[in-house]
Amino acid sequence: MRKTQRRRILRSYYQLLMLLPFLFQACTETGPPPEIPEPGVSWELAEHRKATLTDLRYTLNVSVPRLRAERLHGTNTVHFQLNSAAEAIVLDFKVPSADYLHGVSQAGEAVEYIFENGHIVIPARYFQEGENEVSLEFDLGDQSLNRQEEFLYTLLVPDRASTAIPCFDQPNLKARYQLTLNIPQEWEALANGALEKETIQDSVKTLQYAATRPLPTYLFDFVVGDFQTITSELGGRKMTMLHRETDTLSVLRNAQAIFDLHLSALNWLEDYTGIKMPFQKFDFALIPSFQYGGMEHPGAITYKASSLFLDENATQNQELGRASLIAHETAHMWFGNLVTMNWFDDVWMKEVFANFMAAKIVNPSFPEINHDLRFTLAHYPGAYSVDRTAGTHPIQQPLANLKDAGTLYGAIIYQKAPIVMRMLEKQIGEAAMRAGLQKYLTTYSYNNATWDDLIDILDRQTEDDLDAWNQQWIKQAGMPHLALDTEGEDGIKSIRMRVTNAGGSTMWSQPLQITTFDENGTSTYQMEVNQAENTLELGELAPRPEMIIPNAGGYGYGYFQLGAASKTYLLARINQLEEPMWRGVSWINLWENLLNDNLEPTSLLPTMLEGISVEPDPLLRQRILGYLSSLYWNFLPEPDRKSVNAQVEAALWTAFEQTEDKRLKTALFNTYRSVVESPEGVQRLQAIWSKELEVEGLSLSENDYIELAFQLAVRDVPHSVDLIDQQIDRTKNADRQARMRFVKPALSPNEATRDEFFNSLKQEENRQVESWVQEALGWLHHPLRAASAEKYITPTLEMLEEIQATGDIFFPKRVLDNTFSGHRSESVVEAVKQFLADRPDYPENLRNKILQASDETFRAVGR
Ligand SMILES: [Zn+2]
Repeated sequence: MRKTQRRRILRSYYQLLMLLPFLFQACTETGPPPEIPEPGVSWELAEHRKATLTDLRYTLNVSVPRLRAERLHGTNTVHFQLNSAAEAIVLDFKVPSADYLHGVSQAGEAVEYIFENGHIVIPARYFQEGENEVSLEFDLGDQSLNRQEEFLYTLLVPDRASTAIPCFDQPNLKARYQLTLNIPQEWEALANGALEKETIQDSVKTLQYAATRPLPTYLFDFVVGDFQTITSELGGRKMTMLHRETDTLSVLRNAQAIFDLHLSALNWLEDYTGIKMPFQKFDFALIPSFQYGGMEHPGAITYKASSLFLDENATQNQELGRASLIAHETAHMWFGNLVTMNWFDDVWMKEVFANFMAAKIVNPSFPEINHDLRFTLAHYPGAYSVDRTAGTHPIQQPLANLKDAGTLYGAIIYQKAPIVMRMLEKQIGEAAMRAGLQKYLTTYSYNNATWDDLIDILDRQTEDDLDAWNQQWIKQAGMPHLALDTEGEDGIKSIRMRVTNAGGSTMWSQPLQITTFDENGTSTYQMEVNQAENTLELGELAPRPEMIIPNAGGYGYGYFQLGAASKTYLLARINQLEEPMWRGVSWINLWENLLNDNLEPTSLLPTMLEGISVEPDPLLRQRILGYLSSLYWNFLPEPDRKSVNAQVEAALWTAFEQTEDKRLKTALFNTYRSVVESPEGVQRLQAIWSKELEVEGLSLSENDYIELAFQLAVRDVPHSVDLIDQQIDRTKNADRQARMRFVKPALSPNEATRDEFFNSLKQEENRQVESWVQEALGWLHHPLRAASAEKYITPTLEMLEEIQATGDIFFPKRVLDNTFSGHRSESVVEAVKQFLADRPDYPENLRNKILQASDETFRAVGR
């Protein structure tokens, strides 16, 4: 890819050079309309700017009005060095209309420019070799300001900085930002830089921040609004947290843990990398309904508030999730922020190391957890959920224009990449990996690097040739299918592993730890799988195994097709297997076999119902609960579902009553309320919601009561609209009330109201708070409402390109996931096929997302 790209760059570089003189003649004389760089930031434009611009500084002054309806106003003075003044300067500024740009000037004199395609093009004659400066006055576009009545926050990743401020919007033009904010006097603010000076005049608070260390545009941010602040000084580090939580008990319960987790992550990372925290300060803001778990802005991380402020009866998974999230964002200060990918095609690198480090960091804080099992459960099911589909892609993906960078994200980056990185660490050893990463971080500090730069460094740390691994696991899409054969009757000498590739033609090599179970006990073998047929010698006349776990060590990656004997054995005895990892990988294997039509849902159900009451590992028990609700709603045909409903509810409630563990109780109760269908079950939920019935051993939070109200409404209990209204009245927190009001029409018993709500989503302004939209879509397409929701499928697919263009990174896939979640009908499959068949030129990354999200629907229908 790199070679052809270089040729392309050269060609378009000359095209650009030849074009520009005409372009500026066109401003002053009559002539053909000027040609402007294409919308977005093409690789060619980015490379050209990278080759000519250095020493970039933005001096920004931004005024935030109290009223949401009024625009933010700003000025930006851009300083830079040019190594050649032969060409025009192209800044990026993607705003709704030309009147957002008020003017461009140099030393107070107006400058001519062309403003088109989201670019401000300023003629070469205004610039010289060496030092240059140009000032812009503008209104900020609202697209990525996430404005609500009482607060706003920027979220500019991957290419959205230019929707707010004019800039060179690409990851490898790092700049120092010197920001001044003018905000309503009573509000608080947070920015990347350290606060240097605060003054108040005429009800306006002016906050001057120090210039930042070099940052790419996607990491620039500020948060402004009605927030509470808490400052902590621990272990010589000062950290400030902004939040809007009204439940003071929740704040008291959580604040210290949040600071402690950040502190231990920072200490761990400084030790591992040998580099002090690379930015001047370390603060964070907790945002209600934030789009992601968190975003790693240096000096001003933003988090989804509910991921850090946990309810009293949070599950162990939620506690671990919080620790991992904090460790992940903290790790980004080194991996991504100090050293940044050169282009967003390598965005997976920063994510893989953030996740990879997070796993290492949280381990010592949770000594009671089986961390190998946790890694397996946290990564394999998610990675397979995309890699098994027709819409999968390699970890490293090409990217021609930054405007499409958001479509690269997903489970392959977040879940599969850490799996293969752990594989690499196992191959070269922990010490070599750490030494290589330290070298990489020091070599490219405050700079950019590509994956090839890192693999070069790692290659030098080891005798192994990493090229084959790189080609197979990073540059190739898909996952291997692995099937086991045993030979012989009474005694066998070998096991044969057949590997077939789901996609490409290259082999996937990996070491496997295979455990066999026979009448005498278990035996474990190492097997290097590197050919289409691999044979494992068992020795002289070993007893015939009754069951084989091909990935017993937790490291194997692929679809492990179970033979009849192993299947029977597992269905009868998986819950009694001794090692938690054996049970963990076997549950994942069973589920993949179900999806690959090698196992009947009804045969798996009894084993699951046993597992939810006897599985001792809490994380694994939660995994089984997740599989159970998916099996229940998505893989049991309706008559089967109705016939087992009483059994499933009873098993969940009994397990709930029998467990003493509060966190397990929560997980069991959450699954129970999501599958209840019987009249007695619905009555029980109603009694709990109305507080007539107390749930022993569980204290329900405001969020729990909201969820109960929604679950009751989707089941069409009488007066469900009043019930939601009552819940809104009962809810104390204003942000949660706003969320409920938004979601309410999606739960209406009246189909016309739901239709009207769905149609309202076609307007971008009604999709502003993405997490609300996702939640509403989930209810709209709930399995109990699927028949009436099928009509929304095609219109949703028709909206997808616009949703991608206007929404944040994860939004298109999450819209699709929530849309397909409840559907298991032939007609939905047909609608998807028809939509794609009608559009042979549809963008490939979006096509992939549709195929990923509808995969389970296709599989359930195809059974
Ligand atoms: Zn991340």
